[in-house]
Amino acid sequence: MKLSAGMTDSNQRYGKFHVDISGATSAAHILKIIRNHDGVSRAELSRITGLSRSTISQHVDTLQKMGLVCESGTAKSTGGRKARLLQFKKDGGYVISIDLGATSLSVALCGLEAEPVAVDMRDFDVAASPCETINRAQRIASELMESAGVDQSQIRGVGMGVPGPIEFNSGTLVGPAILRGWNRYPIADALQSRFGCPAYVDNDANVMALGELWAGAGKGVEDFIFVKVGTGIGAGIVCGGQLYRGADGCAGDIGHVAVDYSDVMCACGNTGCLEALAAGAAIARRAERAAVEGTSQILAGLMKEHGQLTAKDIGLAALKGDPVSAEIIRDSGRLIGMVIAKAITFFNPSLVIIGGGVSKTGDLLLASIRESVYRRSLPLATRNLLVQSSTLDDSAGIIGAAVLVLEELFSPNRIAQVIADSS
Ligand SMILES: [Zn+2]
Repeated sequence: MKLSAGMTDSNQRYGKFHVDISGATSAAHILKIIRNHDGVSRAELSRITGLSRSTISQHVDTLQKMGLVCESGTAKSTGGRKARLLQFKKDGGYVISIDLGATSLSVALCGLEAEPVAVDMRDFDVAASPCETINRAQRIASELMESAGVDQSQIRGVGMGVPGPIEFNSGTLVGPAILRGWNRYPIADALQSRFGCPAYVDNDANVMALGELWAGAGKGVEDFIFVKVGTGIGAGIVCGGQLYRGADGCAGDIGHVAVDYSDVMCACGNTGCLEALAAGAAIARRAERAAVEGTSQILAGLMKEHGQLTAKDIGLAALKGDPVSAEIIRDSGRLIGMVIAKAITFFNPSLVIIGGGVSKTGDLLLASIRESVYRRSLPLATRNLLVQSSTLDDSAGIIGAAVLVLEELFSPNRIAQVIADSS
């Protein structure tokens, strides 16, 4: 059975094996079991998978040659004989993760459990070309590797999250509203040639959802939605414990759902989009108008001080008791909640995680989203529903981009390729 990128392996999900599965799928499944155990013997692997001892040994050999599995310690087997234990080789390499936002570029060196070893966050100008940005990310990565004493040969892959609709299989942005100069640019190919290792690119909200699934509020949750509220608005959907990308890769792009019939233009070219009315820029625009018109003295003061206003300023003003700022944030939360309620009706998740820069404006936004979600969803859909803030904060994108690489590197496709290359 050959799996394409993004496809769900039902055998992996349900932990059952059939006799007709390919060697690579078996090897990938065995690797997953070893990664989830702190030491497991070949006999245990045989019992868990139902595969013969000789098949297990053959796959373990492949995984050892790939530098992903090592023997570590012994345990008593049922016959009283000492059995050698297999462990995931955590120090078997590193990955580079890149989290690109509309205003920031974060680059990290991560271990094989997606844990950030070194992180560097810089400002980013959306006018920068893709080539310029990739070269800059590579320079930052080189600095991080040098200071951590990591060699290029230890880098197994590079992963990147970008704000916009990504065609996952080709690693390109298609019709982005923010990074307009990046349309159809082969980001994954350019990363692969610049970094000299396999490269994978996905939408920023998808990548952050992967981060939450691996190490954040979504850990162990089968069905959840991660909503990023920043300069734009987007969502990543986790269904049955796997990221769901949809037919073309843009599932969850909720920022462009129409919420209003006004003539407010969105960067995508349409009018009345959620993003145009409730994201960071819309919040700042309303606040600046209030400052100029003199309806909020606090906002007028902050604007005089900073020259312009950001969502963070409005959050601060609301915390100080400014009713105008509180109203702007509540309106934004109400609209976001309306769209999330629609997504809940379609998908019935047990958790909604709110993250992204604007979500840091304070509890008022989350409270307003919650109120709107609970008011507009069916009682059965909200009976076990939690709506909470991200627990990973700025790390969700970095960890998620590393998970993106690891999922692909440890996939049956990739293992099949390694087996084919070595035979
Ligand atoms: Zn739009």
